[in-house]
Amino acid sequence: MKFLCDEMLQRLGRWLRAAGYDTEIISDGRDDYEILKLSLKEDRVLLTCDRALTEYRDADKNVVLLETDSLDKLVKQVSQKCQVNWQFQPFSRCLSCNTVLKEADATQRKTIPDDVQQTTGLVNYCPSCNKVYWDGGHVERMQKQLENWTRTVELLFLAHPRKSNQKEGSPNTCWDFQSQFPRIKI
Ligand SMILES: [Zn+2]
Repeated sequence: MKFLCDEMLQRLGRWLRAAGYDTEIISDGRDDYEILKLSLKEDRVLLTCDRALTEYRDADKNVVLLETDSLDKLVKQVSQKCQVNWQFQPFSRCLSCNTVLKEADATQRKTIPDDVQQTTGLVNYCPSCNKVYWDGGHVERMQKQLENWTRTVELLFLAHPRKSNQKEGSPNTCWDFQSQFPRIKI
């Protein structure tokens, strides 16, 4: 499952990257229809808070409307509507540009602080923007957050089991995201 986040969902988009999902984030102010076309072309689930995006003819194929501005609530909503696993492939992608990370070589390792080099284990880097990532306090805190959300989602599903007609394990299926609002044709 791949995602495309509109500009209002940049934080959520970076967290989806932290969980390992291929997630593009709109940042160039392009218009709604261009965003929808991009999501269809790249087969991405389009996450948006913009109700207008659900009114296009093709929107029911892949648009998921989220209705809050709180990160925790967004996480719950996207977890319920799409089968997000917050422990999917943690810290395998660049948080800045979405590129899959590679293990850093000796030269790249030298760019991190000396004291960290002595203590840290795996060091990764982004082959696209050259950002270097290592296990440290920040990653630990983010990992804990991902674990917390995983527990929250498990509790949520215990309280609200999936619908019986929901296909198990279907990677591209989102849950009951189809808009209840009337369509306008384009
Ligand atoms: Zn990068």
